[in-house]
Amino acid sequence: MNAYLCLGANLEQPREQIHKAYLELAAHPGIRILRGSSLAKTRPWGKTDQPDFHNQVLEIETTLPPLELLETALEIEQKLGRVRKEKWGPRLIDIDILLYGDLVINTDKLTVPHPEMHRRLFALRLLAELAPNLEHPVLHKNIETLIQEIESQGDM
Ligand code: ADP
Ligand code: MG
Repeated sequence: MNAYLCLGANLEQPREQIHKAYLELAAHPGIRILRGSSLAKTRPWGKTDQPDFHNQVLEIETTLPPLELLETALEIEQKLGRVRKEKWGPRLIDIDILLYGDLVINTDKLTVPHPEMHRRLFALRLLAELAPNLEHPVLHKNIETLIQEIESQGDM
Protein backbone atom coordinates (compact mmCIF):
# COMPACT_ATOMS: atom_id res chain seq x y z
CA MET A 1 0.00 0.00 0.00
CA ASN A 2 1.16 3.54 -0.66
CA ALA A 3 1.02 5.98 2.20
CA TYR A 4 2.08 9.56 2.90
CA LEU A 5 3.91 10.58 6.03
CA CYS A 6 4.57 14.09 7.30
CA LEU A 7 7.77 14.56 9.28
CA GLY A 8 8.13 17.62 11.48
CA ALA A 9 10.77 18.97 13.87
CA ASN A 10 11.57 22.25 15.56
CA LEU A 11 14.26 21.53 18.14
CA GLU A 12 18.01 20.88 18.03
CA GLN A 13 18.87 21.08 14.35
CA PRO A 14 15.49 20.14 12.90
CA ARG A 15 16.91 19.30 9.46
CA GLU A 16 19.18 16.74 11.06
CA GLN A 17 16.26 15.24 13.03
CA ILE A 18 14.18 14.87 9.89
CA HIS A 19 17.11 13.28 8.09
CA LYS A 20 17.55 10.79 10.95
CA ALA A 21 13.85 9.89 10.85
CA TYR A 22 14.13 9.43 7.09
CA LEU A 23 17.02 7.01 7.56
CA GLU A 24 15.16 5.06 10.25
CA LEU A 25 12.11 4.73 8.02
CA ALA A 26 14.26 3.74 5.03
CA ALA A 27 15.98 1.04 7.11
CA HIS A 28 12.69 -0.61 8.09
CA PRO A 29 12.08 -3.83 6.13
CA GLY A 30 8.36 -3.07 5.79
CA ILE A 31 8.86 0.40 4.35
CA ARG A 32 10.20 1.60 1.03
CA ILE A 33 10.51 5.33 0.50
CA LEU A 34 9.39 6.20 -3.00
CA ARG A 35 9.70 10.00 -3.05
CA GLY A 36 10.20 12.93 -0.75
CA SER A 37 8.94 16.49 -0.98
CA SER A 38 11.19 19.44 -0.38
CA LEU A 39 12.01 20.31 3.20
CA ALA A 40 10.13 23.45 4.12
CA LYS A 41 10.30 25.81 7.05
CA THR A 42 7.08 27.18 8.52
CA ARG A 43 5.89 29.28 11.39
CA PRO A 44 4.60 27.19 14.30
CA TRP A 45 0.97 26.22 14.23
CA GLY A 46 -1.47 26.41 17.13
CA LYS A 47 1.07 27.38 19.74
CA THR A 48 3.08 30.24 18.29
CA ASP A 49 5.78 30.99 20.89
CA GLN A 50 8.25 28.35 19.75
CA PRO A 51 10.89 27.90 17.05
CA ASP A 52 9.94 27.51 13.38
CA PHE A 53 9.12 24.05 12.15
CA HIS A 54 10.76 22.09 9.40
CA ASN A 55 8.55 19.64 7.55
CA GLN A 56 8.89 17.06 4.83
CA VAL A 57 6.31 14.74 3.30
CA LEU A 58 7.33 11.24 2.18
CA GLU A 59 5.56 8.92 -0.17
CA ILE A 60 6.16 5.35 0.95
CA GLU A 61 5.20 1.87 -0.06
CA THR A 62 4.58 -0.33 2.93
CA THR A 63 3.67 -3.88 3.80
CA LEU A 64 2.75 -2.79 7.33
CA PRO A 65 -0.92 -2.51 8.17
CA PRO A 66 -1.94 0.97 9.38
CA LEU A 67 -1.65 0.34 13.12
CA GLU A 68 1.78 -1.23 12.72
CA LEU A 69 2.89 1.69 10.62
CA LEU A 70 1.76 4.00 13.43
CA GLU A 71 3.59 1.88 16.02
CA THR A 72 6.72 2.04 13.89
CA ALA A 73 6.43 5.81 13.58
CA LEU A 74 5.98 6.19 17.35
CA GLU A 75 8.95 3.89 17.99
CA ILE A 76 11.16 5.98 15.73
CA GLU A 77 9.98 9.16 17.46
CA GLN A 78 10.97 7.59 20.78
CA LYS A 79 14.28 6.29 19.53
CA LEU A 80 15.18 9.76 18.31
CA GLY A 81 14.39 11.08 21.77
CA ARG A 82 10.97 12.59 21.49
CA VAL A 83 9.40 13.35 24.83
CA ARG A 84 5.65 13.90 24.72
CA LYS A 85 4.59 16.99 26.54
CA GLU A 86 1.86 19.39 25.56
CA LYS A 87 -0.21 19.16 22.39
CA TRP A 88 1.16 21.56 19.76
CA GLY A 89 4.33 22.00 21.82
CA PRO A 90 7.89 21.94 20.51
CA ARG A 91 9.14 18.57 19.37
CA LEU A 92 12.33 16.89 18.37
CA ILE A 93 10.51 14.81 15.79
CA ASP A 94 6.92 14.16 14.80
CA ILE A 95 5.88 11.50 12.31
CA ASP A 96 2.26 11.69 11.21
CA ILE A 97 0.41 9.41 8.83
CA LEU A 98 -1.41 11.73 6.43
CA LEU A 99 -2.90 9.09 4.16
CA TYR A 100 -2.84 5.32 3.86
CA GLY A 101 -4.07 4.50 0.38
CA ASP A 102 -7.67 5.64 0.31
CA LEU A 103 -8.46 4.01 3.64
CA VAL A 104 -10.64 5.80 6.19
CA ILE A 105 -9.81 4.88 9.79
CA ASN A 106 -11.34 6.30 12.94
CA THR A 107 -10.11 4.61 16.08
CA ASP A 108 -8.80 5.81 19.45
CA LYS A 109 -5.23 5.33 18.36
CA LEU A 110 -5.34 6.24 14.72
CA THR A 111 -7.30 8.57 12.47
CA VAL A 112 -6.62 8.43 8.74
CA PRO A 113 -6.64 10.67 6.80
CA HIS A 114 -4.89 12.70 9.48
CA PRO A 115 -7.63 14.79 11.11
CA GLU A 116 -5.76 18.09 10.73
CA MET A 117 -4.36 17.48 7.29
CA HIS A 118 -6.93 19.49 5.33
CA ARG A 119 -6.36 22.51 7.59
CA ARG A 120 -2.58 22.43 7.56
CA LEU A 121 -1.31 24.40 4.61
CA PHE A 122 2.28 23.40 5.36
CA ALA A 123 1.42 19.70 5.00
CA LEU A 124 -0.86 20.18 2.00
CA ARG A 125 1.71 22.21 0.08
CA LEU A 126 4.38 19.56 0.54
CA LEU A 127 1.92 16.81 -0.32
CA ALA A 128 0.93 18.74 -3.45
CA GLU A 129 4.53 18.57 -4.67
CA LEU A 130 4.11 14.79 -4.83
CA ALA A 131 0.41 14.23 -5.46
CA PRO A 132 -1.56 17.37 -6.37
CA ASN A 133 -4.45 15.38 -7.86
CA LEU A 134 -4.78 12.86 -5.07
CA GLU A 135 -8.30 12.80 -3.66
CA HIS A 136 -8.93 13.17 0.07
CA PRO A 137 -10.92 10.00 0.83
CA VAL A 138 -13.33 11.71 3.23
CA LEU A 139 -13.73 15.17 1.72
CA HIS A 140 -13.52 13.92 -1.88
CA LYS A 141 -11.51 16.91 -2.99
CA ASN A 142 -8.01 16.82 -4.38
CA ILE A 143 -5.02 18.33 -2.62
CA GLU A 144 -4.82 21.38 -4.92
CA THR A 145 -8.49 22.13 -4.24
CA LEU A 146 -7.99 21.86 -0.47
CA ILE A 147 -5.09 24.32 -0.71
CA GLN A 148 -7.12 26.76 -2.80
CA GLU A 149 -9.98 26.61 -0.31
CA ILE A 150 -7.70 27.56 2.59
CA GLU A 151 -5.98 30.28 0.58
CA SER A 152 -9.29 31.79 -0.51
CA GLN A 153 -10.45 31.90 3.10
CA GLY A 154 -7.31 33.89 3.78
CA ASP A 155 -6.81 32.41 7.26
CA MET A 156 -3.43 30.90 7.95
P1 ADP B 1 0.28 15.88 16.69
O1 ADP B 1 1.04 15.08 15.70
O2 ADP B 1 -1.17 16.04 16.33
O3 ADP B 1 0.91 17.18 17.04
P2 ADP B 1 1.10 13.82 18.51
O4 ADP B 1 2.22 13.51 17.59
O5 ADP B 1 1.44 14.01 19.95
O6 ADP B 1 0.27 15.07 18.05
O7 ADP B 1 0.04 12.67 18.33
C1 ADP B 1 -0.46 11.99 19.40
C2 ADP B 1 -1.24 10.75 18.99
O8 ADP B 1 -1.96 10.92 17.80
C3 ADP B 1 -0.41 9.54 18.72
O9 ADP B 1 -0.14 8.85 19.89
C4 ADP B 1 -1.30 8.70 17.81
O10 ADP B 1 -1.87 7.61 18.48
C5 ADP B 1 -2.40 9.64 17.41
N1 ADP B 1 -2.72 9.63 15.99
C6 ADP B 1 -3.98 9.52 15.51
N2 ADP B 1 -3.99 9.56 14.18
C7 ADP B 1 -2.71 9.70 13.79
C8 ADP B 1 -2.09 9.79 12.51
N3 ADP B 1 -2.81 9.76 11.37
N4 ADP B 1 -0.74 9.93 12.46
C9 ADP B 1 -0.02 9.97 13.60
N5 ADP B 1 -0.55 9.88 14.84
C10 ADP B 1 -1.89 9.75 14.94
MG1 MG C 1 2.22 13.22 15.60
